[in-house]
Amino acid sequence: MRSLLLATTNRHKIEEFRAIFSDLPWQLLSLHDMHVDMDVEETGTTFAANAALKALAYAHAVGMLALADDSGIEIDALGGAPGVYSARFIRPDASYDERFRFILEKMRGLPVEKRTARFRSVIVLAEPSGYMRSVEGVIEGVIADAPRGQNGFGYDPIFLVPSLGKTTAELSSADKNSISHRGLAAQKARKLLEEWPVFPIPPQ
Ligand code: IMP
Repeated sequence: MRSLLLATTNRHKIEEFRAIFSDLPWQLLSLHDMHVDMDVEETGTTFAANAALKALAYAHAVGMLALADDSGIEIDALGGAPGVYSARFIRPDASYDERFRFILEKMRGLPVEKRTARFRSVIVLAEPSGYMRSVEGVIEGVIADAPRGQNGFGYDPIFLVPSLGKTTAELSSADKNSISHRGLAAQKARKLLEEWPVFPIPPQ
């Protein structure tokens, strides 16, 4: 069986990827399984750049195919912020309750059509040789008036999916995965893995 390194330290992402790839004939290994304790600085200004940085760094460190995701929320009323800075928004050590208060205060009184936002995820699969493929998934929504729901992580409690009338924190993980940015990107990554070359040609 071929092996794939899930190159993320976020346990929520690992759980989501394990669920989505559960029936693929690939052995899924985490950084913990491979005893890798290394942080990669996300110096890119796009999701694609940061996902590539992480996937390549871990592929090199472990010597195997690595999958990394870079994701975040883009809020139109905040000019697309926090975007690639989602995990560090306001301050790196700010709590999500603090981030919600900050965002909801900025958006107070805005009508629903001005509360549009999206989660975006870019997944990069990288070989130690430098051969890489990348896919993207997006889910559109609106910022809720107040946090709701206990599931998921990060900004899920304030991200409302209008067609369901629920935040992504009110969805089961299976329901979230079937519509989420990372779920959609992972379905595309799954297709790449189904046809992944045994001897990929490195970029020239
Ligand atoms: P990354 O680990 O650098 O990709 O940062 C991703 C950040 O974006 C997370 O820490 C969350 O703040 C946010 N984010 C990404 N995906 C989700 C999601 O599915 N739900 C809620 N927040 C998310």
